[in-house]
Amino acid sequence: MIVLGIESTAHTFSVGIVHDGQVLSNVRKTLTTTTGGLIPAKLSEHHMKVFFDVVLESLFQAGVAVSDVSLIAYSRAPGIGHSLRIGAGVARSLSLRYDIPVVGVNHCVAHLEVGRVFSGKDDVVLLYASGANTQILAREGGAYRVFGETLDLGVGNFLDTVARLLGLGFPGGPKLEVLAQQYSGPLLDLPYAVKGMDVSFSGIQTAVRRMTDDGVEPSAIAYSVQEVVFAMLVEVSERALAHTEKDCLVLGGGVACNKRLQEMCRMMCDARGVSFFTPENEFLVDNGAMIALLGARVFAESGAVAVSDADIDPYERVESVRC
Ligand code: AMP
Ligand code: MG
Repeated sequence: MIVLGIESTAHTFSVGIVHDGQVLSNVRKTLTTTTGGLIPAKLSEHHMKVFFDVVLESLFQAGVAVSDVSLIAYSRAPGIGHSLRIGAGVARSLSLRYDIPVVGVNHCVAHLEVGRVFSGKDDVVLLYASGANTQILAREGGAYRVFGETLDLGVGNFLDTVARLLGLGFPGGPKLEVLAQQYSGPLLDLPYAVKGMDVSFSGIQTAVRRMTDDGVEPSAIAYSVQEVVFAMLVEVSERALAHTEKDCLVLGGGVACNKRLQEMCRMMCDARGVSFFTPENEFLVDNGAMIALLGARVFAESGAVAVSDADIDPYERVESVRC
């Protein structure tokens, strides 16, 4: 079965084509900005501008015609309404024009699904560390559950803010990673904010602001922020593994591209005797292939939706998704 998956929850418009679990193409166009955050109207403008080329390029790279596609899947939740609406609109249009069934899926579950498919492990714990989202997710009792999450901002947005305070520009996460590697001194004293199973970054942000005002060495800040914040994420992930008794941790989200986070997760998993899996970077960031992979499964389990019901839900919580 050939599935065309459309991702448009935030800054990225992407179309991936998957044939029986094999990814044939995964084309992405991402809106980048040098200042400020994501302005909803700019996102829809960007996605409107690029969607046609992205669909065509993805079909071309996959070597398939639209008429070969058996299912259209799109991210219906959660995300920014302005951008979600473009993906849903493209999905509905393709479905109507070519008479192809359509399903809408939850973006967070798609990050979990891509790890599940590629790791070959059926039941995994996902550390989903992206710009706006930070959650520890797993399937339990017929539903997806959030075992821990951020109480304030997403870890990626937090790292981007720290990078901005250090004058590094956006996106800051990769720049902080490089800067952190240049430091070999002692760890700076930062708050360690794990509250139950949840994490919080705002106190650390305040401490970093004070340090930058005091002229502390930027590489020391970058290193210490990574060590402390990743340790918090690893701690909560480990407790989710212990509680659920699952034997595989999967990483997802843009921050999961960070080699130090990967290393710390691997060390914890080795020590616990469970496996650890990180998909390739192109499947860690927002992408259409993961939407197609999950779409195939949702379709097999529950069938398609009527085009008139192919809606969006910007605020859907993953707990409300059945599995
Ligand atoms: P996403 O929201 O999943 O598209 O991921 C975007 C976020 O991932 C941004 O906040 C980036 O700064 C962050 N990011 C990307 N690469 C890295 C990296 N190597 N280390 C840390 N953060 C990263
Ligand atoms: Mg994402």
